[in-house]
Amino acid sequence: MLNKGTAFTEKERDALGLHGILPHHVSTIEDQTVRRIAVLRSLKTPFEKYAFLRDLQETNETLFYAVLAKHRKELLPLIYTPTVGEACVRFSEIYRRPRGLFLSYPMKGRLREILAGMPDGIRVVCATDGERILGLGDQGAGGMGIPIGKLSLYTDCAGIDPATTLPILLDTGTDNSELRHDPLYVGWRHERVRGAQYDAFVDEFVEAIRERWPEAILQWEDFAGPNAVALLERYRNRLPSFNDDIQGTAATALAAILSAEKQAGIDLAESAIMLFGAGAAGCGIAALLIEALEQRGVSREQAAGNIYAIDRDGLLIEDHNVETAGQALVARPACEKQRWCASGKAPGLLEAVEQVGPAVLIGTSGQFGAFDEQVVRSMARQQGQPIILPLSNPVSRSEATAADILEWSDGRAVVGTGSPSLGAATQVNNVYIFPGIGLGALVSGTSQITDEMFIEAANALASLGIEQDAAALFPGEETLPQIAGVVALAVCRIAERDLGIPAPPDGWQAAIERYRWSPVYRNYAD
Ligand code: NAD
Repeated sequence: MLNKGTAFTEKERDALGLHGILPHHVSTIEDQTVRRIAVLRSLKTPFEKYAFLRDLQETNETLFYAVLAKHRKELLPLIYTPTVGEACVRFSEIYRRPRGLFLSYPMKGRLREILAGMPDGIRVVCATDGERILGLGDQGAGGMGIPIGKLSLYTDCAGIDPATTLPILLDTGTDNSELRHDPLYVGWRHERVRGAQYDAFVDEFVEAIRERWPEAILQWEDFAGPNAVALLERYRNRLPSFNDDIQGTAATALAAILSAEKQAGIDLAESAIMLFGAGAAGCGIAALLIEALEQRGVSREQAAGNIYAIDRDGLLIEDHNVETAGQALVARPACEKQRWCASGKAPGLLEAVEQVGPAVLIGTSGQFGAFDEQVVRSMARQQGQPIILPLSNPVSRSEATAADILEWSDGRAVVGTGSPSLGAATQVNNVYIFPGIGLGALVSGTSQITDEMFIEAANALASLGIEQDAAALFPGEETLPQIAGVVALAVCRIAERDLGIPAPPDGWQAAIERYRWSPVYRNYAD
């Protein structure tokens, strides 16, 4: 945390006894940044670059963040998606030194004791149990790569002091038997603990966090679907906490939809919106979209009536093929069954697109190539500027590439993709939302992170002017720190409006800027 490498000054070298240990020349952080990025670029694979950056993070955290700030666009895909996925899979292979906290099930009953030994002043905890790491399934203890990466983005984008962040891996076993039999695997070699035992362990964890750091916010990350929903509901009112896969994704997608609405010149209240893949992400997006439309004065019935959701068994219809509560919210009413199922079964994607002519098509199915030429051409025939958002990650699961969508729509479609994609101006990535949510929650001191905060964050992101590229849905990654500030302000305003938290005397904006840490060396010798 405090290291400066060759940038320790003469005075500091005197005071700290560093002469001889360091070469003579005193570097600036700018020199060091040039040196590190040159080495990084000489490495061949993204994974080697990831390991290099993690090493820098372990040895000189200030420089790590200075390099990141200067080369954000180039480095984000390395410290986070997609490279972090490989880092999780190969976590045990490259394990060198601990970072974050491993709370394993055999330590049940001793979590308070473990937390007591941790530093004071933790304000952001990001926790996973490693069961659903990106699209890569159960990675057990290797899942630690995700909270590490997310918290790095909290610091880079929102300016949260890295000394106040803590990645946590709740090691409740792994059902990935390959991992359990890998001699290098660093986690607890046991099948996953489930049910009441799991719940009791998580409960002990949450209570221990609340006691140890009462002001901390907790981000739930990459839990498997049923646990993700249940944990969020159980704890969201007990401490300021949110699930980025559910709420962060929904807010980011909502912001993309609102921004695309402006670009395409349509009114969502009057438009058909088709959702392909009605799982956790898809239903979360739909639920937030309905709330956002309600806030505009559209009735809940009308807002929900605009949505057409398609899953494995075709268009979702009440009392026909609905399996989850989330799907029930977006299913067509049972009275429409006759109309849709004339042939005996519910229409699939192409048939539904042909019949409905949606203005917006959102993909959260993880089905590679599902938005094929026929589907896109059909939309383009029916809409002047169709909005098409294949959000599934990684690229190998994306419903379409931006280049294909643009070609098949004669360049007219408004496109946003979940993964970086050639030809797409915008990656619809949660990094546009979650750092600002965390910053706003910390600055306001809110006791809850509410849906209204996410909607307001999405509105704020969608309303930003985009100067550099007329086809973009969001400003470029280089502006992420400013965007985190805008999102944080939206959160603070909602905390004031809905929870009665008074604004500081000099206003929220000043409080947000005051809170931010920046990667510059401190002076230790004067
Ligand atoms: P999930 O398993 O809960 O949902 C996937 C849904 O797709 C399921 O309901 C499944 O039945 C449905 N599906 C599968 N095959 C289908 C088919 N052939 N036709 C129609 N529906 C089909 O998973 P999730 O957590 O909702 O994630 C879904 C995708 O969204 C993933 O690829 C994930 O990477 C992506 N995602 C993207 C972001 C982002 O920020 N861009 C964030 C979160 C999730």
